[in-house]
Parts: sequence; structure tokens; C-alpha cells
Amino acid sequence: MKFSQFPRRQYLQGATPIEAMPRLSHALGGKVNLFVKRDDLLPGAAGGNKTRKLEFCLADALAEGADTIVTCGAIQSNHCRLTLAWSVVEELECHLILEERVAGTYNNEASGNNFLFELMSVKSKTIVDGGSDMMAAMETKAKELRAAGKKPYIIPGGASNAIGALGYAACAEEIINQLNDSRLLIDHIIVPSGSAGTHSGLVVGIKGCSGNIPVSGINVSRKKAEQEELVLDLALETAEKLTIQGSVNADDIVCFEDYVGEGYSKPTDSMIEAVEMFARNEAILLDPVYSGKTAAGLIDLVRNNHFPDGANVLFLHTGGSPVLYAYMDTFRAS
Ligand SMILES: *Cc1c(COP(=O)(O)O)cnc(C)c1O
Repeated sequence: MKFSQFPRRQYLQGATPIEAMPRLSHALGGKVNLFVKRDDLLPGAAGGNKTRKLEFCLADALAEGADTIVTCGAIQSNHCRLTLAWSVVEELECHLILEERVAGTYNNEASGNNFLFELMSVKSKTIVDGGSDMMAAMETKAKELRAAGKKPYIIPGGASNAIGALGYAACAEEIINQLNDSRLLIDHIIVPSGSAGTHSGLVVGIKGCSGNIPVSGINVSRKKAEQEELVLDLALETAEKLTIQGSVNADDIVCFEDYVGEGYSKPTDSMIEAVEMFARNEAILLDPVYSGKTAAGLIDLVRNNHFPDGANVLFLHTGGSPVLYAYMDTFRAS
């Protein structure tokens, strides 16, 4: 895959580790061997998956002469935290549009990423109601900034367009190289499926290097059919960008909807169990919104013998641990 044809900033300092999780595998009966790709350890304040996408998105912004970034997310968005962090490093102004997806939950004093927005001195925060047209809200902000003489660049939610998804196609290549170097065979990869850039990019990248490893997405908000369509559309667009059209089709996209619970960001018992199991067996910190629910899916699939005995299963840890501190009451009450 030819990544050098695209503007790219270099935020990574080499591959993130792939580690075995022997204690967690044992705690789940030893039927499968679990591994974790530590994208929670990516550079960028407090780590996480958006750094890979932002290598491409912020490079595109700089190539277009932007001096200001406008992006959006939920009120505890990791994407907003990392876009702000890398904007600080690139000396770009950063403005956030935050969606209060669960009415009444926005609290200006909240911990987690909300605190980090302030600490890194976000230029502005605009809170909008759940279900708002986020692109329209970002365009309104950009117009206001242009009128004030700025050159704004809009990054969509989660940096999940075909530019951002390149970051996860590149991650797939990184994984395949690591597996070859360490002579490890992985039978299945489990990823969170949210705004879909991570899931789409990985599927495209694995196809692009003939990796032949099935990828399953664990949904964090949508129903199965809707999420699979979102992932497929973005995967096709990303494959076209990399001129590997025809490589990805609907059969390659598999999503599980069973671990969302009552909705995006709302705690579930299986998420709490998963966060505790990862912390207590492997000392790995997940988050309540994405990696915790994804791990709950992984654990349930292992328990239900979804993977053949002895399979090697790789969990992509996308980060998000600052959000734990906004949910302490949930964990203490359980
Ligand atoms: C954004 C995010 C995801 C989901 O990635 P998408 O590309 O939006 O699907 C997963 N985990 C964490 C911690 C995230 O911040």
C-alpha cells in the first residue's frame, strides 16, 4: 500500500506493542490465547487510536494552509482530546463542538477528557443537544472563524473519513509485519466499531497486504445492519483512495450489536466486569465507552465458544482510559 502519496505527519515512534494476555486467557478457561495490540500506548496526551488518524488528517489540514482546527465528538470525546493535543503540538487553534448525547449529562466541572480540554486550553467549546447535525454545527463555527480572518479546517467526528481511515490501514500493515517478525499466527482480530474509521481502515489494510485475518467489530452505539453499512461504505472509499478497489466486500464486514446495552456511553454490567478483569489480570486500563464494551464482547465470544479451541485472538486496545475517572461512581457502586 502506498501511503507516501498522502500528506502525513509523524506522531508514532515505531510500532505499538503486541502483548500476550496469559492471565486473562487462563481466567477465561484457557480455551483461546488472547493478545492485545497496545494502541492505548500511542503517543499523544493520554494515548489512544485517534493519533494514527490524525497523522493524516492534520497533515492534510497543514497542506491546505489551515491555522485552525474545528472538530466534534461526545462530551467526553477521546477524539476531541487528541485533536486538541496534536493541535497544541502543531501550534494550531482548536475549537470543539460537543454533543450531549445523553440529555442532562454535560457538566462543565466533570473529570476525564472534559478536564483535559481545559488543561490543554481549548480555544472554544460549543455544547449542542444530542441528535444535532454536527457537520452543520462545525460549518457554522468555521464560517464564524473565517469571518474573523482564520483559516479553519474541519475534521469530522472520530476523524472517520477516508483520510483518517488511512491511519488504520497503515496499522494493519504494522500488525502484519509484527506478526511475521515474531512468527505469531493470529486467527481473529476484535476491534471497537464506533465512527468506523478504525474498523474500516483495518479491514482495508489487512486486505491490502493479503493478511487474511478476519476482523470483527463490536458496536458501541448502532444496530448491526446500520453499523455494517457505515463500515462498508467507508472501507470502499478508503480502498479506492489506496487504489486497491475490489479487494473489500460486504462479507468482510462483521459487527456485533449485543454489547451496547441501553445506548452509547451508558454503562453495562458486562462492561464493568471486562474493565475489572483486564485491570486485575493484566493491569491494562480500558474505558467504559469503547474498549470496555469491546472487551465485554470479546469475553462473551470466548465464553460462548465463538472461536475454535486454541485460537489466537488479538484485541485492539484503542485507549480511552481518562474516561474512567468520569465513571468512578459506576465502578464503586458495582
Ligand atoms: C474513537 C474511539 C474508538 C472508536 O473508533 P472509531 O474509529 O470511531 O470507530 C474506540 N476506542 C476509543 C477509546 C476511542 O476513542
